[in-house]
Amino acid sequence: MATSKVKETKAKTEAAKTKSGATKVKAKASASKAKTKASASKVKASTVKAAAAIKATAEEVKAEEVKAEEVKVEEVKVEEVKAQVTSTPKSEPKVSHYPVLIVGGGAAGVSMANTLRRKSTLLEIALIEPSEQHYYQPGFTIIGGGAYSLKKATKQEADLLHPSIIWVKDFAETFEPEKNSVTLRSGESITYDYLVVCPGLQLDWDKISGLEETLGKNGVCSNYSPKHVEYTWECIKGLESGTTLFTQPPMPIKCAGAPQKIMYLAADRFRKKGILDKFDIQFCNAGPGMFGVPFFAKALSKVIADYGITTNFGNNLVEIDGEAKKATFEVTDGDGKKSKVTKDFDMIHVTPPQSAPDFIKSSPLANAGGWVDLNDRTLQHNKFANIFGLGDAGSTPNAKTAAAVRKQVPVVVKNILRLINNEAVQEGYEGYGSCPLTTSLNTVMLAEFSYGGKVTPSFPKLDPRENRFIWWIGKKIGFPWLYWYWMLPEEFLDQD
Ligand SMILES: Cc1cc2nc3c(=O)[nH]c(=O)nc-3n(C[C@H](O)[C@H](O)[C@H](O)COP(=O)(O)OP(=O)(O)OC[C@H]3O[C@@H](n4cnc5c(N)ncnc54)[C@H](O)[C@@H]3O)c2cc1C
Repeated sequence: MATSKVKETKAKTEAAKTKSGATKVKAKASASKAKTKASASKVKASTVKAAAAIKATAEEVKAEEVKAEEVKVEEVKVEEVKAQVTSTPKSEPKVSHYPVLIVGGGAAGVSMANTLRRKSTLLEIALIEPSEQHYYQPGFTIIGGGAYSLKKATKQEADLLHPSIIWVKDFAETFEPEKNSVTLRSGESITYDYLVVCPGLQLDWDKISGLEETLGKNGVCSNYSPKHVEYTWECIKGLESGTTLFTQPPMPIKCAGAPQKIMYLAADRFRKKGILDKFDIQFCNAGPGMFGVPFFAKALSKVIADYGITTNFGNNLVEIDGEAKKATFEVTDGDGKKSKVTKDFDMIHVTPPQSAPDFIKSSPLANAGGWVDLNDRTLQHNKFANIFGLGDAGSTPNAKTAAAVRKQVPVVVKNILRLINNEAVQEGYEGYGSCPLTTSLNTVMLAEFSYGGKVTPSFPKLDPRENRFIWWIGKKIGFPWLYWYWMLPEEFLDQD
């Protein structure tokens, strides 16, 4: 609400066209908005105070024509609000308890917090998230393929959360579920009635010897790093011939199709430039096949053959020497015998090994594999009834995708509200996940499936194995829109 009032203030101020004064008020209103959000991350009391003050300020500039003198008065008031907000966090006592506490503010955490807020306007919700940037990670594939920008895939976390959500800008470090308590890196503890755990997964770059030193140079790139994703496109764009390697580590990883999606985009770029025959393109996969769902794996084999790509299964990247442009793989043959093979490359796209975050692995919330131990269909923790989990950090055997998160959020929201109302939790998640496989720079095979590899297309009349232009438009325009304005959802905030 505070956000929309501030926006209203800005709009009215601009309409008044009192050039210098208006510009200052606008700048100060935005500053006040930012400060309000920063404050909200620390102390709920200060947020409420600030929101009320901003609301009052906004109402004062509601008149259609704001005279220059009024604007000056307004300026002073906005300054007062700013001063108030800036001064409150340090002096207020630290918050120690929230009815709902969310760990992680990525796709799952933000969507979870805002959806719960929509369903229950009075529930106090706090979210622990250390990062100020929020990335639309599904866009990384097409950034690497030169068809999208990092700018479009990045927003400020503060702009995505409803102003009433308390953003605790810190890392969660330890869990004491018996005491309903989470301890932060700062040492502060926060207790909760209900906990939602969704800190994503961990990219284990260090498990490939030499990788960290060379990533982002020497033709070594990865769409899995926001810092280096643009370098993938630089590599693809700059090559006229040579050996290109695309690696896939052991499962599970987020977006299992991503390691090969970028390979098709590169191959198509080479083809469009008329130089595809000058390349030796190799897919080096630690796993045994093209894709976990056989229905789509067969169709992908045709795509592979069409580009003339060589596949090497059972090939796990273990070492890179960037300067020498050599990559070493541990190769497991059909009898389980292991050996090492070193390949030269001109470009290598690396998908890093992935695992549950260390602080989850070492916590009482983890299953044997280190993931948050969840019921596959209710998403409730298997040991602690007031804890839920979702997203990439969860133990559920679905494809780790934002598409899965979209279907998981309503189940967790509903089950928390049911517990609050003394009702039993209900099953609701069927394991849906989706992977828009970018088979060229203008086609996508839209793989959608649920638990057990059951194919569950959203448009059953269209064969999902077909490479379609319409899904490419979806990938570039439709799905990002859905993410920012429907799933997270930001749009409804403006309507508050
Ligand atoms: C290259 C690539 C391509 C992809 N393509 C697709 C696609 O086409 N379709 C699709 O649906 N999905 C795709 N995905 C996967 C999708 O982005 C993830 O599955 C989704 O973001 C998972 O959401 P999450 O909230 O679980 O994790 P994330 O979105 O990764 O968020 C986790 C959050 O937790 C925070 N966090 C970490 N540690 C802590 C801590 N200690 N305390 C508090 N917070 C913490 C992080 O800062 C982060 O903000 C792709 C991913 C990549 C990398």
